[in-house]
Amino acid sequence: MSLFFNDTHLALKETVRRFAESEIAPRAAELDESQGFNEQALRKMGELGLLGITASSQHGGSELDVVAATLVMEELGAVCASTTLSYLAHSILAVNNLSANGSEAQKAKYLPRLCSGEWIGAMAMSEASAGSDAMGLQLQAKKVGDKYILNGTKMWITNGPYADFFWVYAKTGPTKKDISTFIVEKTFKGFSVGKKLHKLGMRASPTSELIFQNCEVPVENLVGSEASSASHMKANLLVERITIAGISLGLSRAAIAYATRYAKDRKQFDQPIFAFQQVSKMLADATAEYLAARSLTYEAAATVDKEGLYSTNALMLGTSAKLFAAHRATKICMDAIQILGGYGYTKEYPVERYMRDAKLIEIGAGTNEIMRVILGGQLQREIFPGF
Ligand SMILES: Cc1cc2nc3c(=O)[nH]c(=O)nc-3n(C[C@H](O)[C@H](O)[C@H](O)COP(=O)(O)OP(=O)(O)OC[C@H]3O[C@@H](n4cnc5c(N)ncnc54)[C@H](O)[C@@H]3O)c2cc1C
Repeated sequence: MSLFFNDTHLALKETVRRFAESEIAPRAAELDESQGFNEQALRKMGELGLLGITASSQHGGSELDVVAATLVMEELGAVCASTTLSYLAHSILAVNNLSANGSEAQKAKYLPRLCSGEWIGAMAMSEASAGSDAMGLQLQAKKVGDKYILNGTKMWITNGPYADFFWVYAKTGPTKKDISTFIVEKTFKGFSVGKKLHKLGMRASPTSELIFQNCEVPVENLVGSEASSASHMKANLLVERITIAGISLGLSRAAIAYATRYAKDRKQFDQPIFAFQQVSKMLADATAEYLAARSLTYEAAATVDKEGLYSTNALMLGTSAKLFAAHRATKICMDAIQILGGYGYTKEYPVERYMRDAKLIEIGAGTNEIMRVILGGQLQREIFPGF
């Protein structure tokens, strides 16, 4: 698959694959069971230059593109999707957002620590009553002297219990568009981490509530100017959606590979179950769907790299990639369970974990329904360029 990959991408893919197999795979099942966190592997990714994959080298990053970030998600996602989700929250939601939108002083202060793995990052947009309607967020920020005082809560925050750095969206005015971004350190007065959530899947990626009770944030930690964040918040979501589709690709690929090997090995009626056309059909369909999702996702990533985040092409391709890759991954992982029969339904085999992890990607970073709302809305405005 070199249509979208250059030599740097191919070398990166090999490095990440080796790292995932040696540092992440051995603990994936155990950490899923215990709802643990492979903090050591996440921090070690700093040594490989993965934590600041899109950040500038001046600040300790690797200065790579969205295609590179997506392929890292696919390689890690094929081994442990939940460690990959935590990696995504750090490298894309925190680091990439800061790189793209922070001031020089903010980048110089925070990026080196985040790129090295000394600090873990998170992004806090969602709230208990503002999920799909992200613009309806209610966390309030008021300027008092040389500080902003934040009051309210955030919900569903990946890496919440471990993060040192939070990229936080809050309201600084009465209208929906009055959204501002603040950099909050975990030690800031008035900030605390709420309960860790007990989840169906992505269990080795810690998720929590965050509480801001008269939380004091220095004025220099306001990103840009007040009420200027709505457009970059949406643009950042597009990068999140394309890269998270990479996790769906990894899960699909792992499920197909596992189920194919199993179907060739497992005998019933004196022949490998692969010989039964109903079984090979599931694998053939899964392969075609994975390959279609893969082409679409990397095309979306390459389009962002070429045309930027505000192009209609990038929006349509990225939104479609997230919808298609996530939706198909859940089906592919369900079929893998079917192919393994009763064994697939047990925790002795990894495919049930793949399915539980895959389901999250139909919800997080915008649900399937919201992807359709975006695509439908855009089609209503204008026909997709190139149709
Ligand atoms: C494991 C996990 C990790 C997460 N990590 C983060 C994170 O790091 N940072 C962060 O900010 N957020 C994070 N989220 C939040 C995530 O983005 C939201 O859960 C998601 O956007 C959906 O919001 P909601 O859960 O409030 O569901 P709701 O918005 O309440 O949706 C419920 C149902 O209604 C449907 N629905 C809603 N509106 C419409 C509509 N207009 N048309 C059709 N159907 C609609 C939805 O599709 C869904 O089926 C995470 C969530 C999870 C589960």
